[in-house]
Formats: sequence, structure tokens, C-alpha cells
Amino acid sequence: MTDSRKVNPDLQRERDNCTFDVTELTYLIDGGAQKTEERRKREEMVLKEGIHIEEVPSVYLSHKDKYELAVKKACYLFKMIRRLQEEENTGMENYQEVLGGSLGSAILGDGSPLTLHYVMFIPTLMGQASVEQQVHWLGRAFNCDIIGTYAQTELGHGTFIRGLETTATYDPSTKEFVLHSPTLTSYKWWPGGLAHTANYCIVVAQLYTNGKCHGIHPFIVQLRDEETHMPLPGIKIGEIGAKLGMNGTNNGFLGFDKVRIPREYMLMKNSKVLEKNSLFIFLVQDHRSISTSSSPSLEESSSYFGERRLASLEVHRSYDMFTPRRPRAEKSEDDAAWSFVETRARDPSVAA
Ligand SMILES: Cc1cc2nc3c(=O)[nH]c(=O)nc-3n(C[C@H](O)[C@H](O)[C@H](O)COP(=O)(O)OP(=O)(O)OC[C@H]3O[C@@H](n4cnc5c(N)ncnc54)[C@H](O)[C@@H]3O)c2cc1C
Repeated sequence: MTDSRKVNPDLQRERDNCTFDVTELTYLIDGGAQKTEERRKREEMVLKEGIHIEEVPSVYLSHKDKYELAVKKACYLFKMIRRLQEEENTGMENYQEVLGGSLGSAILGDGSPLTLHYVMFIPTLMGQASVEQQVHWLGRAFNCDIIGTYAQTELGHGTFIRGLETTATYDPSTKEFVLHSPTLTSYKWWPGGLAHTANYCIVVAQLYTNGKCHGIHPFIVQLRDEETHMPLPGIKIGEIGAKLGMNGTNNGFLGFDKVRIPREYMLMKNSKVLEKNSLFIFLVQDHRSISTSSSPSLEESSSYFGERRLASLEVHRSYDMFTPRRPRAEKSEDDAAWSFVETRARDPSVAA
């Protein structure tokens, strides 16, 4: 076996002739000497374990074997992130670099069935769940005690999100939402990791209370039993099949046959349905924008995790939460007061 790290002499000669300081440029690209050191440490870990080596190139594998290889590689990377997090006690950097950076794309070339868990499931909980809900769900999600995905797109509705057909109807007698897929075109279609991997899901559905539609809102839904991994009653789930690429992502379909979830499973940071009178209320001052740029990156989200932020964070349309975002505009100090006044204006019985 040849040493893959031996540099071709022609290439070495060209490198020796270069007119700039290679180290300086490397630091510039990485964002500083320390970043370069951290990157090299991560790369060394991967090379040492040999996770990048494929006994049979994945392009020759069956669909099932491609999926299993992707699961194996993804699990290795997540264990590695966990180890680095414990050693370095850092923020979200290792997640961003290993999953979203060049290392992740080099190793998980055909996609990963766990990516949606980190790029959409966790960030949506951070951006759309109330503090109480974050306390309940985020620890389990970060520990991978539960694996989630994000189901927005439907067979008949991609870009046109307002047209989504999945319904979430509040039943005040049981304090539950009833999720339903009324048509074939309302089936969720595409979510990564949905087909065989995820056991929880953020579902974007049309909210109905007292017979009135309030537009699309996110809900957390358990899809599979946490022990047996079998789909729960009323959950119709499967794989959409082989694609031209991304065959490691395990993209799936999902339909609901009157599936009941507790009221608390609506993500309630920005709006909620009151238990007593089924009244729907907004909790945010500004809910105009539905845009990628208003979605938090993992880093941004983690920086205010634990605080009650009243920013405008609508349904995410981006599946790449690791790309840099423009800085968030400063919020005025009376945001909380304004929000409370607005909420009270809609329903005077609401307590702070
Ligand atoms: C690999 C992959 C993974 C995915 N993972 C997920 C996932 O995890 N979860 C999830 O919910 N979804 C997922 N999706 C779905 C993805 O979000 C949709 O494909 C996307 O929203 C676009 O929808 P569409 O494919 O139906 O295209 P369409 O909405 O049919 O759009 C087709 C084309 O028409 C253009 N177009 C549409 N409307 C207009 C308009 N009004 N004016 C001008 N041009 C317009 C679009 O820009 C596009 O070029 C995934 C898709 C892919 C390919």
C-alpha cells in the first residue's frame, strides 16, 4: 500500500517555488493560528481512526449498504464531536466544523441520515420552542437520546409553504392537537433521516382552533417507539427511494391518520393556543418575516439559549444552518413589555 500522504515531487517543486508565506495564508483561511491547530487536531483524529477509508467505494454499494455506511460514519463523527466537546468544553464550534465544514463533506460525501438532527431539529427547538420546552427537549436531543428531523415540504408543496395541507386541529376536550394528512399531496416528502433513522420530528402544519385556520406552525411529534423503533399508531412512514445523489440521507415520506399530540407539543416561543378557551395568540412583536436570514445559526442560537428572546424567528426554510448569517439587529429593551402589551391586547386574561 502506498503512503497517501507522500507528496508528488512535481507538486512539491511547485509548492517550493511559491511566492507567498503558506503558513500565513493557511492561518488567514482558517481564521487564525489556533483555528488551524484545532482543524488539524480534528483531521488527525479522523485519519487515525481511518473512518474515511471505504473498503468498497460507496458508489458500488447497494442502497441498503450505502445507508448503513452513512450511519456508521455519522455515528463516528458524532462520537468524535462529543469527545472534543468534553475535552475542550467549547460552544458549538465542533458541530459546525465537523458537520458543516470541509471535513464533514469529505467524509459524508453522499449525505448523512443524522444531519437533519443537527441542522434543523435542534436549531428549530432553539429558535421556536419556549424556554420550558427547550429545557424538556434540548438535553435529550444533544445527547442523541432522541433523533429528530424536520418535515415541512409536502408531496404537493415545496416553495409554496402557505399551501401546506397537513392540519393540526386543537381539541379542547383532551387538550391535544390532532395531526392529519387529508390528501396524498399533503404527505410530508423529502425530510432527511425520516425514512429509517429519526424517532421524533418537527412537523409544520396548518393550525386550526375553534374552526378557524391560523396558518402554519411547528409541532414536535413522536414518530417511532423509543425502544422498538416501530412507527406509532397513525404514523405512515417510509423511504422515498434512490436519488441521483445524497443517498446516505435516508429521505422519507410521512402521513398522519388523526395522530394526537399534547398541547405542549406545539412549539410555543412565538405563539400558542391557550388551554382554557382554545384562543390562539401571538407572543412576538414582529412576525412579518419568513426568511432564511432570520433563522438562527447554531452558534447564534446557543448564545441566547436559556433566555426568553422575543425576536422574529419564523419557520425555517434553510437546511444549512451552519452558514454565517448577517448579525442580528439589536432588540430594544422594551421588547418584552411590548410583546406583553400586544398579547394582552389580544386577550386581556393572559398573565405575564
Ligand atoms: C436533497 C433534499 C433534501 C431535502 N430535505 C428536506 C427536509 O429535510 N425537510 C423538508 O421539509 N424538505 C426537504 N427538502 C425539500 C426542499 O425544501 C424543497 O425541495 C424546496 O422547498 C423546493 O420545493 P420543490 O422541490 O417542491 O420545488 P418547487 O416549489 O416546485 O419549485 C420548483 C422551482 O420553481 C421555482 N419557484 C417556485 N415558486 C416560485 C414562484 N412563486 N416564483 C418564481 N419561481 C418559483 C423554485 O425556485 C424552483 O426553482 C429536501 C429537498 C432535497 C432535494
